[in-house]
Amino acid sequence: MDAHTGTDTNTDTDTSPGARTGPGTGTGPSTAAGPGPGTETPCSGTELIVVGGGPAGVSGALMAAGLGLRVTLVEARERIGGRPWEIGAMENVPGGWRDGPAFARALADDIARLEAAGRCTLVRDRAVRVAAYEDHAEVSLAHGAPLTGTAVLVATGVVPLEAGDADWIEARGTVRPPPLWCAGPDVGHALVLGGDRPLGTWLRTHPEAGARLEVLHPRADAYKVAEVAADPRVHLYEVERATVQHTDDQRFEVTAHGTDGGVRTFGAPSVLANLGMRPSPPAGDLVRGPEGYCPLASQSFRLLTAGDLRSARHQRITPAQGSGAEAALTYYYAAHG
Ligand SMILES: Cc1cc2nc3c(=O)[nH]c(=O)nc-3n(C[C@H](O)[C@H](O)[C@H](O)COP(=O)(O)OP(=O)(O)OC[C@H]3O[C@@H](n4cnc5c(N)ncnc54)[C@H](O)[C@@H]3O)c2cc1C
Repeated sequence: MDAHTGTDTNTDTDTSPGARTGPGTGTGPSTAAGPGPGTETPCSGTELIVVGGGPAGVSGALMAAGLGLRVTLVEARERIGGRPWEIGAMENVPGGWRDGPAFARALADDIARLEAAGRCTLVRDRAVRVAAYEDHAEVSLAHGAPLTGTAVLVATGVVPLEAGDADWIEARGTVRPPPLWCAGPDVGHALVLGGDRPLGTWLRTHPEAGARLEVLHPRADAYKVAEVAADPRVHLYEVERATVQHTDDQRFEVTAHGTDGGVRTFGAPSVLANLGMRPSPPAGDLVRGPEGYCPLASQSFRLLTAGDLRSARHQRITPAQGSGAEAALTYYYAAHG
């Protein structure tokens, strides 16, 4: 199949392990948890479509290509590498990477090498829908023609929660705070809504920045802010609820009801969100849990998931890479074992 047009142009005979046997044939939506026994793969084009070129998707593509599967990687953004492009200071990453963009570049290089070797086709587009049928899986794209493969591995990660998503925040008017971790070293005096771990990332990334960060966080974040409480730039206030609005002089004001029973008003030139993340999978046939995450074990044979998209726990690079490889192996052994 030509990954860019969605037409099946590959008619060669493949003797790789990835071409030996496959799931059953048919046309209806797939409900089976596994492939039919002893049947041939009906798709002669791309076998595994990987959606998302972050650590999980790249790992899945590398593993799948290593197993001899034909891989198409769909990435919505200009560059392969995912969230690490935005992380100034990383820790606990295989290989000891500490600089996010350098690590992201290495992932992009891995995919470029696979492409050069003819093991992977890169499609730069946004997947808007994934669907599983009995004999194939499909990815609908925002701009291009749909892609067809034998299975789809979705690794689209998570996106930042916004003030409107948090039940303890009332954001008035047009207030839409940007994520803290995207702020530069010149942030100065800022109000930070939420105590998620990117606060520590920002402090490590900008050790010399002379900031005053007034962090208003719910009790649930207390154990996370404790990790950075000793930094003199951080000023913590635990709140039950908070109302944020613009003031006339283009500053922001937050009225906070503290867990200590007090009510305090904070003002600063900027307000930043640090509220955590939520999954953002394409529409379609992925099975979602109560919080919108898509665990691998809940999916049909033709739809696999990896990385941060799987669950709110273990949202780190090592589990993302491990789960990308795991998903590719899960498909490989189910289809070809
Ligand atoms: C501020 C911050 C600091 C962090 N620091 C660390 C750290 O020090 N150590 C650590 O281990 N982890 C850290 N993490 C977590 C780490 O970044 C993630 O666990 C990891 O990036 C998850 O990889 P992923 O491939 O699942 O998702 P992502 O890295 O988010 O990649 C997802 C990819 O999918 C693409 N995509 C999304 N939707 C679509 C679509 N519809 N169609 C096509 N493509 C799509 C995106 O453009 C992106 O390239 C940090 C995270 C943040 C936010």
